[in-house]
Amino acid sequence: MNSLDTHALMPVNVRPEPVMVRGEGSFLWDDNGRRYLDFVQGWAVNCLGHCPAVVQRALADQGALLINASPAFHTLPQHRLARDLTAHAGLDHAFFGTSGAEANEGAIKLARKWGKLHRGGAYEIVTTHGSFHGRTLATMSASGKPGFDTLFPPGVEGFVKVPFGDAQAVADALSDRSVGVLVEPIQGEAGVIVPPEGYLRELRALTQARGVLLIVDEVQTGMGRTGTLFACQHDGVRPDIMTLGKGLGGGVPLSALLARREVSCFAPGDQGGTFSGHPLLAAVGLQVLGALTDGDFVTQSRAAAEALHTGLVRLAARHGACDVRGRGLLMALTLPAPVAGAVVQSAMRHGLLINAPQPCVLRFMPALNVTLDEVEQMLVCLDESIGEILQG
Ligand code: PMP
Repeated sequence: MNSLDTHALMPVNVRPEPVMVRGEGSFLWDDNGRRYLDFVQGWAVNCLGHCPAVVQRALADQGALLINASPAFHTLPQHRLARDLTAHAGLDHAFFGTSGAEANEGAIKLARKWGKLHRGGAYEIVTTHGSFHGRTLATMSASGKPGFDTLFPPGVEGFVKVPFGDAQAVADALSDRSVGVLVEPIQGEAGVIVPPEGYLRELRALTQARGVLLIVDEVQTGMGRTGTLFACQHDGVRPDIMTLGKGLGGGVPLSALLARREVSCFAPGDQGGTFSGHPLLAAVGLQVLGALTDGDFVTQSRAAAEALHTGLVRLAARHGACDVRGRGLLMALTLPAPVAGAVVQSAMRHGLLINAPQPCVLRFMPALNVTLDEVEQMLVCLDESIGEILQG
């Protein structure tokens, strides 16, 4: 342990020793001046890398103008962000929060209100095993992460869980009590699990036929992460409700709940939050969205994604790793043994930051403007770290 005094913090994270003090693009520096190539980027948050100029400018400009007025007043950034974000998503209304969990909590409330108004008080939502939707009580109950159901009893009722990727299981689980289906296009925290081709399209058709809502949690997959602005666009699917977080703020805490007009049934007093639509955060979000949708920025990120995928397949073959999976710049490599945590530690010693969402799974979620050279540097370093751990 270095001289950092941590006794006043609740121990909710096991953190490595280095203290991070500076970031730029794909790199982080610690307080000893050591540089790290960052393929975690705040858990897929810093979509434009560390401290991008557009975010710095938005913070400075909006910070000098108006940081906070309260959601009780009209403010320009949130109206502009709502206008642009709903236009890109093909949805009609937005509500802003500061975390993915808050956006999903809002989605659950909105679906229940809609069920009360339009489906005779139905409130059940079908979700999937292994899913992750947040750490509030309701979103933990909605999540299918093993162990979440027994952590803080009693949980919130009203969630029915089925295997991920199985549309028939969803069909079987839907009943008169159901208001909707909540699903990630790719399960991120479960280890980057990609469903069978057409899964989201099947869920869209099924929910439409049964008169319930399709709620897509794009907190991790949204904002260009998988090679399109929203992952559901790969399938040409327009959900009834979409949630966003992480990359939306490019590093600042910003999330959104988007909905179709017919579903958008909150009345004044139903939903809110002191920091909802916060001008400083919304101004950043507006610039981040502008950068992602400027020209072919997201399409260009596919070249780095392709290089990452090809390189990981090569490493998988060399080290007997089982599987490379994911889409765009949300990629995972599964290892032949539960040593992902040890590989993460070894990589850090070599100056590389990667993440292990599961004991056998390494996850890669670099900045969307990561260079081919940085991808290559990452692969060289990863190769060494995996070799070090697997070969002893
Ligand atoms: N949904 C998904 C798909 C996520 O990956 C996460 C975070 N990992 C969340 C929701 C929760 O977001 P937050 O941590 O910002 O509350």
